[in-house]
Amino acid sequence: MVAIKGTGVSYGIAEGKLYRYKRAESGAHCAPASDAESELRRWRTASEQAAEELDALAEKTRAELGEDAAALFETHRMMLDDLDYTDRIEELIEVERNSAESAVQTAGKEFADMFSAMDDDYMRARSVDVTDISNRVIGLLSGRTGGMTLREPSIILADDLTPSETVQLDKSMLLGFILSGGNANSHTAILARTLGIPAIINAGISPDDEYEGRQAIIDGSVGYIVIDPDETTKEYLGKKRREEKAVRAMLEGLKGQPDVTLDGKEIKVYANITSPADVDAVITNDARGIGLFRSEFLYLGSEAFPTEDVQFEAYKSVVQRMNGAQVIIRTMDIGADKKIGYFNLADEENPALGMRALRICLSRPEIFKTQLRALYRASAYGKLSIMLPMVSSLWEVQESKRLCAAVMAELKKERVPFDADLQLGVMIETPAAVMLAPELAREVSFFSIGTNDLTQYTIAVDRQSIQGLERFYDPRHPAVLRMIKMTVDAAHKAGIWAGICGELAADCSLTESFIEMGVDELSVSPRSVLPVRNAVRGAKSWHKQEKFP
Ligand code: PEP
Ligand code: MG
Repeated sequence: MVAIKGTGVSYGIAEGKLYRYKRAESGAHCAPASDAESELRRWRTASEQAAEELDALAEKTRAELGEDAAALFETHRMMLDDLDYTDRIEELIEVERNSAESAVQTAGKEFADMFSAMDDDYMRARSVDVTDISNRVIGLLSGRTGGMTLREPSIILADDLTPSETVQLDKSMLLGFILSGGNANSHTAILARTLGIPAIINAGISPDDEYEGRQAIIDGSVGYIVIDPDETTKEYLGKKRREEKAVRAMLEGLKGQPDVTLDGKEIKVYANITSPADVDAVITNDARGIGLFRSEFLYLGSEAFPTEDVQFEAYKSVVQRMNGAQVIIRTMDIGADKKIGYFNLADEENPALGMRALRICLSRPEIFKTQLRALYRASAYGKLSIMLPMVSSLWEVQESKRLCAAVMAELKKERVPFDADLQLGVMIETPAAVMLAPELAREVSFFSIGTNDLTQYTIAVDRQSIQGLERFYDPRHPAVLRMIKMTVDAAHKAGIWAGICGELAADCSLTESFIEMGVDELSVSPRSVLPVRNAVRGAKSWHKQEKFP
């Protein structure tokens, strides 16, 4: 038995096999092949595996996002069977004695170049597809088995995971995460909490083969990892699991109860989601609305820009399922840790201070307008609100509003229905936005305070890689709490509401203080909804020690 301690960032106990996350190696190994027959066999096996992956992805995407979204993977599947492409690969192996990896890389590049030289926009766009398919096959040839190819329920062991790596993992097979690096406020930790999966970061464990396939129990509330647990440990953690279940059962009794303080003030307790599939958890946990839909995860889960129709279907399905309850969709917050290849963002020295979120949207209005059109179209199906992230100047909001007006005028002309009274809000996550709150409040209908970023920008501590800096990244820092109060005061003075959607909103030891400050809404991961309801209603004792419920 090996016992290791890390930092728990998403509570719960999971038991299962450890699985080391393996990344695709970059670049193919290009040594000439000595045995063409065996290289041919390797290529054909990898091609069959890639086809299986694409079929599974198409099926999953169809179920989660609809037919249009799944079409991309079907296009990839067809390309993988394209005779010109496969013949060229086999020719490179048989005649030119290339290794399988090298042949796929060369053929992929030739076809991608050919597509990008075409006049037709549609055909030019196929260049990215053929590169994607080739990379998938090369990944399989070079031993990548990460991502969507988890074969059994597993606890993932990794150095760190990017949001796009996390989003591609098969959630039905994911029991928990152990990261040797990471941060409680990284998007991977946030995703684990949204999914309700135990997660541990800063674990003193290197993600090497030593632990691959071994049985483990992890406790995400205290950060314990036990590999090859003995009977006593199993019994102890089994007991703890039963106790957690009992607390959960107590919380279940709060379903259907109003989110009202002892002195009668109503607080909106909403949920944060990253995909339409999370709505199940929102409904199960009885949230009164969605306070933050991180729409960029639609982009992260996609291999090319999601079209207007794909986005429309996703947003529409969420508002329809929420059945008239408010759904606040944040326009995409790409950049910083959420990098996506097809955005072609330049490498930056300080990405958190660089081309991110609204800055991308205003610099590339064609991408922004596609999302705004999808959002406005979906607004005809329920109570949808739009929220702008990373605002730091008044003009950014005013320019965004002009784009919204242009989109509404277009839709009106096209006789496409939308909600003309849709509420537009801004996230308050930069100190500049706090200081400008009185001016911003005159432009919008609500504020939502993003304490994860507000903390990093206020204290000037990176929310991502803060090993050794943990005690400096403090979302409860008095400067942050004071900024929350300033924001709420400015909102109320202008007659609009203000909520918190950063991770701090789930800290039940602060619920009462937030309510005293006048906060109107708390938006938290779905499984924190009932604990926060419990705190709002005045009974908050059980939960005090859990820093990240
Ligand atoms: C925040 O910054 O607090 C927030 C809610 O947004 P994100 O964590 O997605 O940056
Ligand atoms: Mg943020």
